[in-house]
Amino acid sequence: MKDHMQRLAQTVQIGQDIQNLKDDLEEIPAKVRRLEAEFQAADELFSKKKAEWEKTEGEIRKLRGEIETENDHLKQKEARLNAIKTTKEYQAVVKEIATGKTMVKERETAVASLQSGTDSLKAEWTSLQDKRNELQAALEQEQNAIRGRLEELSGKLKSMEATLNERLSALPEDIRHKYIRVQAKRQPPTAKVLSGTCQECFISLPPQLYIEIRKTQEIHSCPNCHRLLYIEE
Ligand SMILES: [Zn+2]
Repeated sequence: MKDHMQRLAQTVQIGQDIQNLKDDLEEIPAKVRRLEAEFQAADELFSKKKAEWEKTEGEIRKLRGEIETENDHLKQKEARLNAIKTTKEYQAVVKEIATGKTMVKERETAVASLQSGTDSLKAEWTSLQDKRNELQAALEQEQNAIRGRLEELSGKLKSMEATLNERLSALPEDIRHKYIRVQAKRQPPTAKVLSGTCQECFISLPPQLYIEIRKTQEIHSCPNCHRLLYIEE
């Protein structure tokens, strides 16, 4: 029976390793999901800033077009001035020229003010684009790495589970069943006993039970957490 307790104790490390592997297997896709979310957020911000920049650039183009058209009109009007015969008509054209020049000046001021905004927007979206591209590369790298890593870990997990089953099959059937039953509810399904205390739920074991456990003749369960108890010598 002493052997049984030793075998039970040997399942502790492998049970812990299996649990760690399962945690790793869950953590890997989570990392990809985190990167995906980060990339998405960076991409949205980049697209938003770029769209703002494009809109402002469009406004600038429109204003420049208007300035060009108006300048053409002004040239035509100035050329016409010499040919005008009446004072009244002359004054009317002079007035039109003044209004046109004011309009051009206003457009030029607006362009200058939009231009400084558009420059800083471009600097912003350029740096956001770099960040977005970096995240995209990291995400792709992670997605490729994950495939190999998941296969590797799944293979390792299978072989560790086989080892654990092998160890468990060396235990008496009733103990094995108890192990499986407790494992479904609690991790780990075993608990070390130290100074009469279950090291998982920390209850003090009844003195008679502790005496029995120390004999290592039989495997007992913790009366509180039901884990299979073992002592290390
Ligand atoms: Zn316990």
